[in-house]
Parts: sequence; structure tokens; C-alpha cells
Amino acid sequence: TYRETDPARQPEDTGEGSLRPETLADFTGQKASRENLAIFIEAARARGEALDHVLLHGPPGLGKTTLAQIVARELGVGFRATSGPVIQRAGDLAAILTNLQPRDVLFIDEIHRLQPAIEEVLYPAMEDFQLDLIIGEGPAARSVRIDLAPFTLVAATTRAGLLATPLRDRFGIPLRLVFYTPEELRAIVSRGALKLGMRLTDDGAEEIARRSRGTPRIAGRLLRRVRDFALVSKHAVVDRALADAALGRLEVDNRGLDAMDRRYLKRIAEHHHGGPVGVETLAAGLAEARDTLEDVIEPYLIQEGLVLRTARGRMLGEAGWRHLGLTPPASQVD
Ligand code: ADP
Repeated sequence: TYRETDPARQPEDTGEGSLRPETLADFTGQKASRENLAIFIEAARARGEALDHVLLHGPPGLGKTTLAQIVARELGVGFRATSGPVIQRAGDLAAILTNLQPRDVLFIDEIHRLQPAIEEVLYPAMEDFQLDLIIGEGPAARSVRIDLAPFTLVAATTRAGLLATPLRDRFGIPLRLVFYTPEELRAIVSRGALKLGMRLTDDGAEEIARRSRGTPRIAGRLLRRVRDFALVSKHAVVDRALADAALGRLEVDNRGLDAMDRRYLKRIAEHHHGGPVGVETLAAGLAEARDTLEDVIEPYLIQEGLVLRTARGRMLGEAGWRHLGLTPPASQVD
């Protein structure tokens, strides 16, 4: 089922490209990553060399693809994008790599889903810009070595821990993306409204930002839904009250949590007395994939203190109890 607040990319997000910032200077938030990239890009440009390989990790919708595109643009080089699950055979990757121009950026999304055999092809390509291919089969098989143009791999993953260590170690520039602050999201929402030709008051932008789970993709999506609501209800200007009414209809609550998030919190409260409960048990009880819980649902709930990750499993945090309108156990109240 489609969730308005699912940070993973949805088919209907194809229009989101129009809201993408195109330069580092235009990119709001992620100060540490942005500053690091600016320095390394400048150095690579000055030397006329390919930028070191970059690993971007963090929850979906925080701007990994956007940053990869910006890196190529700032370097003034070509950009080619693919993703881990799309590359089925070593030949697919070889075809992409041999077509790269010197210093080009190759973006591989969901790199943790690359098959191990294909990872093996990637190692010498990343390290020595060489491709070792086996041509033919059986006794006639022989190995050929192909030189590649020096290139920059920008890879994205939701969790760096999902990568094999030898792969992770080959990235000279690992960057962790973090959830955006409400102020950063407000700036992103206001800028998006401008691009969409929409009149949005400051408090309207603030309301959408506060309910976007720290995630620009969700902010952009909610902004478009609120715009639809304003159009149909014949409001020329979107203010806080209108944004609140629109988001309420979408069942996005005042903290930006949706029905799935609340189901998750309730499950721990009602079935497990607040936990601790193992993630596998939770996933089974909710009929969701464990990966979905860990990559998509939990990161924001944990950052907000609604859920605690302990050695013995997930526990409802004090804020989690209160969000459900329940009283936290005495041990959790200070
Ligand atoms: P990811 O690759 O991490 O899933 P994307 O780069 O596809 O995320 O970004 C998702 C959406 O959020 C895009 O529409 C993008 O334009 C927008 N976005 C991401 N980061 C920012 C930012 N810092 N400022 C403005 N918009 C952003």
C-alpha cells in the first residue's frame, strides 16, 4: 500500500526532479558532508584528477542521489546512474565501466544489493581502473585485462553496515547523511513552494516541515499534496491552518507519523508491554520485512526518542508512550 510518508522513492515521485537543488551552494543542510565535498571537489579539479570514490549512507530520501548529481555537475563531468539490483551480470557492469569518459561520475544506488560476484569485478575497477574479464568458457576460457578511464564511483546505501568490509574500505570519502532539522526543512519547503509557483506562508511551511520526518523527499511530497488540497478547496494562499487540515486528511499526525508508524509503536506498547522485543518478532507481528523496519520506519522513531534500540531489542521510549496517549512506566520518567 502507498504511504505518503514512506521515504523510499515511489513511482509517483518522478516529478520530484523539478525540486532538486543543482549546486552545492543550493543544497540545504548536511553541513559536514557538504563542506567535505566542497574541499575534495576543489582539490580534484585543481589537480585535474578524478575525485576519490564517495560512499553516501543514510536513510532514504535524504539527498544521496541529488548529491551524486551535484558532484558530477561541480566537477564538470558526465554522470551515469544505475543501482545494485539492476546490475545482474558482470558484463552489465563492464559495459557501463568501459563507456565512462575520464573523470566521469558513476552513481550506484543501493550498492549493498550488488551480487558478490559483481562486487569482485568492481574492486580492481575502483582501485586500479582495471577490469579483469573472463572471455569464453571451460578450457578455452581466458582472462583479459582492460584499462578503464579513471572515474569516480559515488555509491549510496541505507546502512554502511550492510556493505562487505573490503568494499567499504575502497571508498576514500565516506559521508553519513543525517535527518534534516525542522529549520532546514522549512527552507527546503519554502524554496519548493516558490518553484511550484505556490503561495505558502512561513507558518504553513513550518507546519509541513515539522511533519516531514526530517526527510526532504517526504517534505516535497507533502507540499504537493497540500497544494492539491488548496487548489480543490479554492484557497489561493496556504497557511498553517490549511496545511494542518490537508495533512490531517492524509493521516499524517502532528509529529509527522503515519498509520504505519503508529501501528509499530502500538505493537510494542500493547503486545510487548513496551518491550524489549526483538526486531524479527516485531517484523513478523506487523507482517513487514525486517529491512523495511530497520531502514525506513525505525531510524526516525529512534532519533526522536519514540523508540529505543537496546541490546535486548526495541523498547518504547517515554516520548513513544506519550505519543500514544499512554502513561510511561515509572522507570522511564525522570
Ligand atoms: P535519496 O537518494 O537519498 O533517496 P534523493 O536525492 O532522491 O534522496 O532526494 C529525494 C528528494 O528530496 C528529491 O526530490 C530531492 O530534490 C529532495 N532533496 C533532497 N535533499 C535536498 C536538499 N538538501 N534540498 C532540497 N531538496 C532536497
